[in-house]
This record gives sequence, C-alpha cells and structure tokens, in this order.
Amino acid sequence: MDSAWLVPAALAFGVLVGAGVAVILVISAGRGRTAHEVVNSSVPDGVDQVIEALESAGVVIDPSNNVVKASPGALSYGLVWNGALVHPELVQLVDQVRRNGEPVTEELHLARGPFGEASIYLSVRVARLGARYVLLLAEDRTESYRLDEVRRDFIANISHELKTPIGAVGLLAEALVSASKEPEQVKRFAKRLTKESERLARITQEIIELSRLQATDTLTKTDRVDIDYVVASAIDQNRVAAEANKVVIVSGGDAGAEVFGDETLLTTAVDNLISNAIQYSPNGSRVGVGVSRRDGVVEIAVTDQGVGIPEDEIDRVFERFFRTDPARARNTGGSGLGLSIVKHVVQNHGGDIRVWSQPGNGSTFTIRLPEASHAAAASLGAS
Ligand code: ADP
Repeated sequence: MDSAWLVPAALAFGVLVGAGVAVILVISAGRGRTAHEVVNSSVPDGVDQVIEALESAGVVIDPSNNVVKASPGALSYGLVWNGALVHPELVQLVDQVRRNGEPVTEELHLARGPFGEASIYLSVRVARLGARYVLLLAEDRTESYRLDEVRRDFIANISHELKTPIGAVGLLAEALVSASKEPEQVKRFAKRLTKESERLARITQEIIELSRLQATDTLTKTDRVDIDYVVASAIDQNRVAAEANKVVIVSGGDAGAEVFGDETLLTTAVDNLISNAIQYSPNGSRVGVGVSRRDGVVEIAVTDQGVGIPEDEIDRVFERFFRTDPARARNTGGSGLGLSIVKHVVQNHGGDIRVWSQPGNGSTFTIRLPEASHAAAASLGAS
C-alpha cells in the first residue's frame, strides 16, 4: 500500500471513531435524563406551583413519610415540623391511603404546632399523588366550629332567657288570682308582671332586629340624619335606667354633624351603647357621650367608668350572643345581642366600631361614620 494514503486514512479513521464515541455519549446522556424524568414523573408536573399557590394547607409526602413539599398554610397551621408531619393522626391517614389507595376525608381537632397549647379544627383530605407520593390537603374550620359553639351557647342562653320571664308571668298571674281581694298585693304583682313582659318584649325585639339587619347588607332608607338628634334621643331613652342606677349621663362635642342613613337604626345603636355603659357601671358613676367631626368622619364615643372588659374577651363582644359574664348579664336582662346589633347598624352605614377597655377602669365604644357633607362634596367633585 502507498504510504502517502496512510496518514489521511488514519486521520479519517480517528475522526470516525471520535464521532462514534461522541454520538454514543450524547445518546446515553439523553437516556440518563429520560430515566431521571421517569423517576420524578410520579410527582405530576406543576404540583410544586399548585402547592405554592395554595392558601390552605397542602403537603406532599414521600414513601418514607418525609415531607417533600409544604404550602405556607401547612406551616402556619403547624402541620409540618423538621421535614415531617407533626400529628400522628395525620401520619396514620397517610399510611392508610398508601395501603388502600382510596382517598379519605376527615374532620380532625389537632394541637396547633408541636408544642403550642392552642388547637385547630381541620377538614383533611388525603389522596395518592402519582405512584410514590401522597397528597394531604387541609382547610381550617376553627372559625366555623367556634361560631357553632357560640350559636349552641346562645340557644341554651336564649331558652333560659325566655323560660325565666315566661315562667314568672305564669306564676305572677296565678298570684294575682289568689290575691284578688288585696289591692296592695295586686298592685305589686301587676308591676312585676309588667316588668317581665317588658323583658320578654325586649329580647324578642332584639332577635327580630338582628335578623332584619342581617338579611340586608345595605340600607333601603337613606336620609340625611342629624347626629345631635340621634344622640339626644338615645340619651332620652336611657334617662329612667340612668336615674335608677344613679348614673349621670353627660354629652358634648361638635354639633351639627350629619350622616346618610336610617335615623331609627342609628338611634338604636347609640341607645344600646349607652344602655350597656349604664348596666356595666357602678352606682354614682358617669357616662359620657361625645361627638367629633374630623376629615369627613363623624365619631360618636360612649365612655363609662364601669367594670370594663377582660383583654382576651374584647374581640368577642361583638359576636352574636356573646356575654363576658353570663350571670351578671342575665341579671341585667342582657341577651348578648346588643353589640352585634350595633356592629351591623354601623357596618350597614359604611362605618366601623372600635372599643377600648380596661377591667376596673371602664370602656369606650367609638362609632365612626362617613359624614354626609363630605360624601356629598366628594360626589359633586367627581361629577
Ligand atoms: P348584653 O345584652 O349582654 O349587654 P351586648 O351584646 O350588648 O349584650 O354586650 C355583650 C357583652 O359585652 C355583655 O354581656 C358585657 O359582658 C360586655 N359589655 C358590653 N358593653 C360593656 C361595657 N360598657 N362595659 C363592660 N362590659 C360590657
């Protein structure tokens, strides 16, 4: 063979071998990637993003019960700690689903986090995710459980509230019949009969008012309402109670404020605040009602020097049927509905209500409402 061909032939052979090796490497690298994807493809595409976007709790668990992905909600509910599920109840559900393959849904009452004292009500759904993983989704039901509890308490309370005066009316009627020949006794029983029937009427009225307010979120009647008149009427409606409790009501502040709304409802709201201020104050104390107008906001503040509200219960006083001290509230004829009526009225008027209170030092409830002149000016400006 001619040696002149040897060098190019060797070169061509070298290039061929190199190209072959390169092709084999590329193919095998591709195969490797495919194999990796096959392993991971059991966590369906996009699960990461879905878990990330969840507001509630979402957790992906691997075959060794390690948490491979958890939503921020799962962390804030305290379900995950150190890369694992905190609650044995949840681990049990996960194991069960892994064994049976069937999804399960359960309502659970769990401790919040690994060492906290608080608890949380969860609606939990567990299902398989691909071949290897298990998905756990949980919704916080604590609020609705708490409302149910308040509602159950209310039914117990309201039955008691109604049973007591109804029973008393029956007994007093019997007493009236047997004392018919003694005018003094008849007078005494009749007076008590009137008081009990007034109490019954008040509780019934409050329940009706609250249902009416909750049925509509916006006002049907919106006139210009004179706040001075509202405050004066509400104070007037409490004169007798104030005198009976030797409480002095003082009022003051900015005059001439007006809001758009329903005069009767607003009077009821201020009336309820003043009535509470009197009920929960000692004899001889003062209740202040102040009106202020600032930057298009009308504030009506009712201040007392009474028993105050414990700090941990302050957020709950506007809940329907909630009473900080049921026994005392029962004596005062309270039903726990007054403040929730106030809150609804104020919200329906586009305002809000705030409370400051300190046990032993008294409370201030402040209603804030948009001022009519400001609202009118704003709409004129906009047109
Ligand atoms: P109630 O008819 O029992 O007064 P409310 O809804 O008006 O119901 O008030 C709820 C609870 O809030 C009351 O039972 C009372 O414990 C507390 N509360 C309301 N107003 C005052 C106040 N001015 N001072 C102290 N506690 C108050």
